[in-house]
Amino acid sequence: MLPRFGQDFEAELPSGSAVGHCCRCSRSEGVWQLQNLAAYGDSEDAWVYLGSCSLWVDIGEKESWNSVCIDADFLTALLDGAGQGGECVSLFHIHPRSMLAGNRIYPPAANDIYSLVNLKRILREKSDAEITAYVLDGEGVWTYETTDLFESSYFQNQRSWQRCCSASDLAKEQYANFMLDYCTLVEPATSDIALSQRMKIEAYILRSRALGIEVSYTPH
Ligand SMILES: [Zn+2]
Repeated sequence: MLPRFGQDFEAELPSGSAVGHCCRCSRSEGVWQLQNLAAYGDSEDAWVYLGSCSLWVDIGEKESWNSVCIDADFLTALLDGAGQGGECVSLFHIHPRSMLAGNRIYPPAANDIYSLVNLKRILREKSDAEITAYVLDGEGVWTYETTDLFESSYFQNQRSWQRCCSASDLAKEQYANFMLDYCTLVEPATSDIALSQRMKIEAYILRSRALGIEVSYTPH
């Protein structure tokens, strides 16, 4: 059993949250530790790295083998506490490799993409922080970003999606459209047994681009 990343360090963090382990180390050291969790762990988790203070903070909650929720309120409180304008926040979350068999690939899932665009919207409203997002799959790094095409197709005129129950009919319709397009156009690339792993990655990237999602993959 691997030690949980960050448990050995305590720092001043916003209170009243289920998240909040933190760790002060370099970006490359933190990525290395999280890749180990992705390679051998059994659940997803999410962390942010604040480059200005070399601080890693756990912002994942409700972790399971195939999903993790990101506490946006905690993240905005954290950025307020950091008190630095224009912070560049790197959001990392892990896809545990041991939970899926075969030569599948482990790219950002539909909900990862929707929660990123939602988080970007919340941060834009509450701070001037920029966010970049990564999935670590134990063997490489997926970088993903939504473009204007995505926002105009699936996120137009939406306030943050976080309060699902108060989402407008338009927001619900756009979300449903995205899930349908992702599941029919993009997702099949991740498990097509006719494709090699490399071809799956290329197909996933190309099909994502058609929906306004820019993805790249860098193996270690
Ligand atoms: Zn994910």
